Amino acid sequence: MQTSSTKFETRAVHGGMTGVRESGSHVPVIDFSTTNPLGSVETGGLAYEELATGHDLGEGRSAVYQRLWQPGVARFEESLAGLEGTDGAVAFSSGMAALAATLIATVADARPHVVAVRPLYGGTDHVLENGLLGTRVTWTDAAGITDAIEPDTGLVIVETPANPTLELLDLRQVADAAGDVPLLVDNTFATPVLQRPVEHGATVVLHSATKYLGGHGDVMGGIVAGDRGWVERLRRVRALTGGLLHPMAAYLLHRGLRTLPVRVRAQQETAALLAERLLTHPAVAHVHYPGLAGQDPAGLVGTQLAGPGSIIALDLAGGYEAAARFTESCDLVTHAVSLGGVDSLVQHPASLTHRPVAGEAKPGAGIVRLSIGLEHIDDLTADLMAALDAAAEVGGLVSSERAPDAVTA
Ligand code: PLP
Repeated sequence: MQTSSTKFETRAVHGGMTGVRESGSHVPVIDFSTTNPLGSVETGGLAYEELATGHDLGEGRSAVYQRLWQPGVARFEESLAGLEGTDGAVAFSSGMAALAATLIATVADARPHVVAVRPLYGGTDHVLENGLLGTRVTWTDAAGITDAIEPDTGLVIVETPANPTLELLDLRQVADAAGDVPLLVDNTFATPVLQRPVEHGATVVLHSATKYLGGHGDVMGGIVAGDRGWVERLRRVRALTGGLLHPMAAYLLHRGLRTLPVRVRAQQETAALLAERLLTHPAVAHVHYPGLAGQDPAGLVGTQLAGPGSIIALDLAGGYEAAARFTESCDLVTHAVSLGGVDSLVQHPASLTHRPVAGEAKPGAGIVRLSIGLEHIDDLTADLMAALDAAAEVGGLVSSERAPDAVTA
């Protein structure tokens, strides 16, 4: 039984479990039904009407059709909403499907203009820049948000910490600048363990659930958390456009939430130590990590953001060649896109995740992004230092040198 005083960790373990014990199970049973018996024609029709317009599954009503309601998806949504502190949440087949639904809902409201602050995940940047979904974007920095708002602005979009270089934004300031315009915060990097954007004025919170929420690199998903109005609008868009989360994916993501607090904190602990170690290497010109001295001038870590997280970006002194050599020299750390899983990954944003980003906004060629997992820090240090030694050879640095200007934090 959960109450308003139930702690975050307990909610992570027990959220979305309503009725499971009473059903005689210990974990939710996965329901793969694509369709559901309707009872009478009249009650079936009414159930359809309610679900298609974004309402909850009524007591004793048929769930009608998987595109309208799926019990495992609803469990995951309930649990994530409980962690983000919102009325509800709506899950999708990927983070991009979640973003697309939010943009479609905004366009459907006849407010197609979006104000966005870079850096953002490359896919988000790309879909806004090319206007594929009928939006029109104005790029600005946090200070320019109010001036960028137009009469038909339907959304302000920010990411903090931002992908890939971990810039932080003061969400209270951003929310004030957005005024009445809904503020969407991509909270993929922080997760609700470290940051709950609605507590700082955000309207909707988006996750690529593929990352920390799933946490094991084996399930794709996306989710948007918000108030009742947003939940209903997003369910309507999902019902019509079909970017559904599969029941198996919903099960895995719901299960992922149960260990989210311990994973996020353990990964962060390793990342914080590693960031300090990595900035001593001469091949490293700069380490982007909000936990390092001088990288959080507004003092957001410890207030808005409970900790700096477990993504580190390295700017290598030898530029593209060194970044490529480093990435290809990692062994324990896998060269692969994505992040937030139990195993560490490395990738080169300018070539991959941020490839479509317009020239001036693209991450530097020498930048590599690390997602730190749950391996032992000594093994990660050995792997990354050896890869930096290899990168130093390309960059013309001798690996045993410790260049004084490498410590730029
Ligand atoms: N938002 C952020 C911050 C991301 O890093 C990503 C993917 O890397 C996405 C959104 C898109 O999510 P997905 O890959 O699940 O579609």
